Amino acid sequence: MDRFRLDGKVAVVTGASSGLGVSFARALAEAGADVVLGARRVERLPETGALVEKAGRRYAARATDVSRPEDCEALIATAVETFGRVDVLVNNAGVGTAVPATRETPEQFRSVVDVNLMGSYWMAQAFARAAKNGGAIVNISSVIGLRPGGIPQAAYASSKAGVIGLTRDLAAQWTGRKGIRVNCIAPGFFASEMSDQLEPATFEMIKALAPAGRLGEHEELAATLVWLASDASSYVTGVTVPVDGGLVMP
Ligand code: NAP
Repeated sequence: MDRFRLDGKVAVVTGASSGLGVSFARALAEAGADVVLGARRVERLPETGALVEKAGRRYAARATDVSRPEDCEALIATAVETFGRVDVLVNNAGVGTAVPATRETPEQFRSVVDVNLMGSYWMAQAFARAAKNGGAIVNISSVIGLRPGGIPQAAYASSKAGVIGLTRDLAAQWTGRKGIRVNCIAPGFFASEMSDQLEPATFEMIKALAPAGRLGEHEELAATLVWLASDASSYVTGVTVPVDGGLVMP
């Protein structure tokens, strides 16, 4: 099962300052990759970096707002300048809102799409220009991109459904031509700063709806990430994998 290893590879993780991004960075390092960390709260990144180093790998970090294309270019440039290459991109940075649609302002809607959808695209463009050896992009969507979540989330749902469409199109453009596979994970519900904002009743509803009967563990998501980032998934591209305890099964 050496195909799951990422030894000698360099991975970039956005949104690495909290939540799932921290677990993704650690898992990629445990699989053998050096990891480049991006987020706006740059002061938090050394804590994530310490987990990378504990796994025996190196890290670099850069303040990054993914809604700014120039920041995305600079984060990828940090990978190439520091480690000489870039092989994996995890588009994990994301923001959530829950606003009734009749009250949502243009600014609120745009700010979510700007980060979740457009930020993923700016990062992917920068990555594809620099990934000279081919590579793998893993976009982080959500089950809310596949079905309504029971709370009003037009901006979040649209942005996450958009990420699924973006995944398919970039996979079609780049898999054969550039050797870059593009896949997507649709997480169910996992403890993080974002999900902590949900009402306890929402968690109970999720547990009741998901056949697994519980929230997910970060390691369960990170295992899917390592599969999609590595040669273990070398013939998989353009797909969205729900990791959700069965929440969205047809
Ligand atoms: P989180 O703890 O709030 O993490 C979100 C991360 O995104 C933070 O590191 C944040 O860092 C970063 N971020 C936000 N805006 C950014 C921007 N403009 N530029 C760069 N980084 C930005 O929440 P999480 O649950 O781990 O979320 C991670 C991803 O998983 C998101 O895409 C989310 O939609 C998705 N997801 C989560 C769940 C869940 O149950 N937790 C379920 C489905 C999907 P800074 O604030 O420091 O910039």
